[in-house]
Amino acid sequence: MLRADMLDPADPAFADIGPAGDVGLVPQAALERLLADRARQAGVELRRQVELTGFEQDDDGVSVHVAPTDGSAPESVRAAWLVGCDGGRSAVRKLAGFDFPGTPPEITGY
Ligand SMILES: Cc1cc2nc3c(=O)[nH]c(=O)nc-3n(C[C@H](O)[C@H](O)[C@H](O)COP(=O)(O)OP(=O)(O)OC[C@H]3O[C@@H](n4cnc5c(N)ncnc54)[C@H](O)[C@@H]3O)c2cc1C
Repeated sequence: MLRADMLDPADPAFADIGPAGDVGLVPQAALERLLADRARQAGVELRRQVELTGFEQDDDGVSVHVAPTDGSAPESVRAAWLVGCDGGRSAVRKLAGFDFPGTPPEITGY
């Protein structure tokens, strides 16, 4: 974790570099808490430690099959939409048969 208290915004190195000089460090846990609070305010029920294992779509929506990772019984959840925001190896994308076109990542490290 970068330490905000070790940054000196008055350091000449930060002069005249525009908005990039306005550094704001937020720990990931705090950011996740903020986003979760906002989602709950919007009426979202957040369920953790639950893995999507499959789904079926019909004209009215989608039935999503989920398995709790603690080994308790799998269940199905009915929803109007299913959004595949489950990462680069997205199970939703693969099960839906969407391609993942593009080029391999290029990384330059210093
Ligand atoms: C080591 C590392 C360092 C990085 N550093 C940076 C950085 O400094 N700056 C930057 O901009 N980007 C960075 N990235 C990239 C960044 O983390 C990703 O681009 C970003 O997290 C992608 O967000 P996402 O929401 O699409 O997917 P993810 O963050 O991967 O989230 C997907 C979520 O879906 C969940 N999930 C997956 N499968 C299922 C399933 N079957 N059922 C239920 N849930 C499921 C996962 O548990 C996860 O919580 C880094 C990535 C790595 C690996």
